[in-house]
Amino acid sequence: DGTAIAEFSGKELIQGEPDASSFPTGGIRATFEARGYTAWDPTSPAFILENPNGALLCIPTAFTSWTGEALDNKIPLLRSMDALSGAAIRALELLGATDGADRVFTTVGPEQEYFLIDEQYYFERPDLLTTGRTLFGAKPPKGHELDDHYFGSIPERILACMMETELELAKLGVPVKTRHNEVAPNQYELAPIFENSNVGCDHQQLTMQVMQNIARRYGLVCLLHEKPFAGVNGSGKHNNWSMGTDTGVNLLEPGDTPHENLQFLFFCTAVIQAVNTHQALLRASIASPGQDHRLGANEAPPAIISIFLGAELEKVFAAIESGIAQQSKPGSFLGLGTPVLPPMPLHGGDRNRTSPFAFTGNKFEFRALGSSQSLALPNTVLNTIVAEAIDDLAGKLKTALRGSGGLEKAVAKVVKESYAANKRIVFGGDNYSPEWHAEAKKRGLYNLRSTPDALPWLIDRGTVALFKKYKVLSKRELESRHEVFLEQYATKINIESETAAAIARTLLLPAAVRYLNELKIADLEELIGEVQPLIKELHYAILKLEEVNLKENQDDSNPVKWAAYMHDKVLGAMDDVRDAADRLEGIVADDLWPLPKYSEMLFIK
Ligand code: ADP
Ligand code: MG
Repeated sequence: DGTAIAEFSGKELIQGEPDASSFPTGGIRATFEARGYTAWDPTSPAFILENPNGALLCIPTAFTSWTGEALDNKIPLLRSMDALSGAAIRALELLGATDGADRVFTTVGPEQEYFLIDEQYYFERPDLLTTGRTLFGAKPPKGHELDDHYFGSIPERILACMMETELELAKLGVPVKTRHNEVAPNQYELAPIFENSNVGCDHQQLTMQVMQNIARRYGLVCLLHEKPFAGVNGSGKHNNWSMGTDTGVNLLEPGDTPHENLQFLFFCTAVIQAVNTHQALLRASIASPGQDHRLGANEAPPAIISIFLGAELEKVFAAIESGIAQQSKPGSFLGLGTPVLPPMPLHGGDRNRTSPFAFTGNKFEFRALGSSQSLALPNTVLNTIVAEAIDDLAGKLKTALRGSGGLEKAVAKVVKESYAANKRIVFGGDNYSPEWHAEAKKRGLYNLRSTPDALPWLIDRGTVALFKKYKVLSKRELESRHEVFLEQYATKINIESETAAAIARTLLLPAAVRYLNELKIADLEELIGEVQPLIKELHYAILKLEEVNLKENQDDSNPVKWAAYMHDKVLGAMDDVRDAADRLEGIVADDLWPLPKYSEMLFIK
């Protein structure tokens, strides 16, 4: 009634009981057991969301079902941070390097890519409106060949929108840092300063929301889909990740002293071992239908997970592996002060834009995330697999320390053995090249191309055992996520294909027929000969798509089968419709074509 409340107990803030009945559960509970509980997460700051007509106090919360299972992404993320902290502190103790640290935090700094397009076009495109991506559209004569967008200045309207977004985010406590143009036309990027994983993930969700809200104030729409435009680079999210102590030491920073470098080598080796051991699970953690259009399409890392260390660091590991410590110390190298270990490169060295998982000086950059995704699951997976690897290496270090030779020799031994066993994951070349696909196959690396290929790894025996050991997700919690992701996959493709069929039948086909009539009136036989067969082709393709999409042809009782069906049967039928329609777009009179074209959406700023 608009009056202020006089009393508000703390209890109401700490725990709530919203109805969780329409929240996807993946079989965890039936609708009659729909109670869900929220609990205040005091480790993530509350914030005030402003609205033209008021303001809302927002409290980051965890969300569980009454059966005790985590329904959200926050609980497993927090559990994984605890797991990693425990493992890393134990390892630091062995390394004699705790230096008063009680806790190790994982950190995340996401670089968010997105498109901004004029809202008029957005509302004229039912495909963008319903699915977030264009299901039709011929390639424009000008793409990003000229790179004039990437290096160009930011247009005024766009810049104004970006600046207001940054201002709003700053008010919410999100430490935004950089903005710039991206490779594709009308594509941009925003990056904050890194924070601990929990706060960073919350802030990332907020960032995506604010970006979309503010864009509307400027007559723009912010597209976060991984592949809004076929044939044009899609959008990803680079997940910069590291581990740091509560005393401010970054464990992946090659340091100034031999001791710091030993520590760095130990933790870096743990990451290599973790990523090699759980490459398929990491891939599964970033799977979505949007990602399937992007990963491996020569614009984003392939679906094959590998690590880029940089030539210098790779040399260091190779030297340790072969047992030859280099004695020479050129200017850019830091001596380890021991003959057992080679000198360390002072800086991260070169860059490799094609790698899905790259070392960038003092952190790893997991580059394969999709632009619309929550950071939570991939970071939960990363934290957990690295915790396991740290524990494994720490166990081996403990044993090695019983021998003679001290810490340096013991670390060298552990690093050497782990690197030898896991180096197949290290690759410094061009990840886009066909040679790498062949080489990766030889190395036995996974190439899980589609979401249905990748998702089973979420419930693989090794995954279940790992997540159970570190108490991050129970088997039931993993199974429910697996099921929810499969259903989301199938449902999204179902929506896309119904939208595609409807647009093709009710917008594109009629436009082409009208054009055909004009040609007939003018008696232009050759042109009729061009258009008529294409109209037939489009019509048949629509009929085919409608048929595979019929409810009775889809078995949605089993999510695995349903997702596989959508992938194997429906995607191809949708492509065929698009193919015919896009060719018609190239010949039908422009004033008759009912959808805004790529050349308009991508170049009007
Ligand atoms: P680069 O040039 O390697 O992209 P930037 O300094 O631009 O490096 O950082 C890119 C992103 O990485 C930023 O969001 C930044 O905050 C983040 N970042 C930097 N250091 C860390 C770290 N220790 N942990 C997590 N993210 C980090
Ligand atoms: Mg970067």
